[in-house]
Amino acid sequence: MDYTHYFESAVASLKSERRYRVFADLERIAGRFPRATWHGAPGGPREITVWCSNDYLGMGQHPDVIAAMADTARRCGTGAGGTRNISGTSHPIVGLERELADLHGKEAALVFTSGYVSNQTGIATIARLIPNCLILSDALNHNSMIEGVRGSGCEKRIWRHNDLAHLEQLLREAGDRPKLIVFESVYSMDGDVAPIGRVCDLAERHGAMTYLDEVHAVGMYGPRGAGIAERDGVMGRVDVIEGTLGKAYGVLGGYIAGRGAVIDAVRSYAQGFIFTTALPPAICAAAATSVRHLKQSRAEREGQQRQAARTKAVLVEAGLPVMPTPTHIVPVMVRDAEACKAASDRLLERHGIYIQPINYPTVPRGTERLRITPTPLHAEADIRHLRDALVEVWSALGLPFEMRAQAAE
Ligand code: PLP
Repeated sequence: MDYTHYFESAVASLKSERRYRVFADLERIAGRFPRATWHGAPGGPREITVWCSNDYLGMGQHPDVIAAMADTARRCGTGAGGTRNISGTSHPIVGLERELADLHGKEAALVFTSGYVSNQTGIATIARLIPNCLILSDALNHNSMIEGVRGSGCEKRIWRHNDLAHLEQLLREAGDRPKLIVFESVYSMDGDVAPIGRVCDLAERHGAMTYLDEVHAVGMYGPRGAGIAERDGVMGRVDVIEGTLGKAYGVLGGYIAGRGAVIDAVRSYAQGFIFTTALPPAICAAAATSVRHLKQSRAEREGQQRQAARTKAVLVEAGLPVMPTPTHIVPVMVRDAEACKAASDRLLERHGIYIQPINYPTVPRGTERLRITPTPLHAEADIRHLRDALVEVWSALGLPFEMRAQAAE
């Protein structure tokens, strides 16, 4: 029997819906962030500027982080050698967990192979261990959280995004049964922020436990980079904080931090923790170095906020349809899947700027966009180059400029 046609037709249907993804073959150039070599360029490899990396602070190229990874690999070798239970509990992973527990002011932390796995297995395990648990999940939660909720097998209710009145109504309707509220601090596509303190008020009033994903905030917000909950002075009120080591910390991996009893139970029951090879020591040492650095240094956070604000101002001034956000995420709205892909292609081919198109299902149809993430290492000249390139692309493709800026001209 020939099974190939099933796969061909699955891909063909994505292509017909214009959802087929093409990846750019890029090689980042250490020490020259945000530059990279584009290997897919028509005339041979070419240097370009990346404007959409989630290595938000350039920490993936920080000399101390690179040195920690290289030195540890030389000392300890490459792989972890097994699951945590078999032989994967290395000294660097223990040190990393201490660093993360301290970062969030929690009794303990547990490291997973990614932020995705942290949510998928962390939420599922926590909810499953609470008898008759009802999960209350924000409507815009990331796929990894949705999979965690699904994997728990628990009953769930979805509250409208950041809608406290709706959350309160669902909490009230749930009555006395155990409840777990799962939500994010910074939502990565719209760049908006959850009212964490007020969610905690409701959780405390209605006896619910809270699980907060700070993946797009750790390293970047709060005096020591612990995230929005730290910035807002409510970190101690959140029961479990989840984060990634793969974005602002520039390495790989994910974690949860919370009470010792919760973390020990997840360590003991979570299948996505127990049955997989641990993160290599070199990765853990690099991540710990990055976390430690960003606890002490504010320069990267301040630089990112400054350059994000500057980029927004320059693009708005040029009449580009920038969605206003209170964070480092700068969405420029295209509102059409094909035009979004065409804009991204033209930026890369004509202007040497890489910004991937964000289309359905990552965002709802009709809200397709370019998602720009300025970093402390994007210089003023880069911002001006970005503006000129976007204006050229918008004009060439006949995309609408914002009325507000046109009126001001
Ligand atoms: N949580 C959110 C909100 C995300 O956007 C992502 C995206 O990558 C993840 C979790 C997964 O984290 P990681 O990339 O470390 O697997």
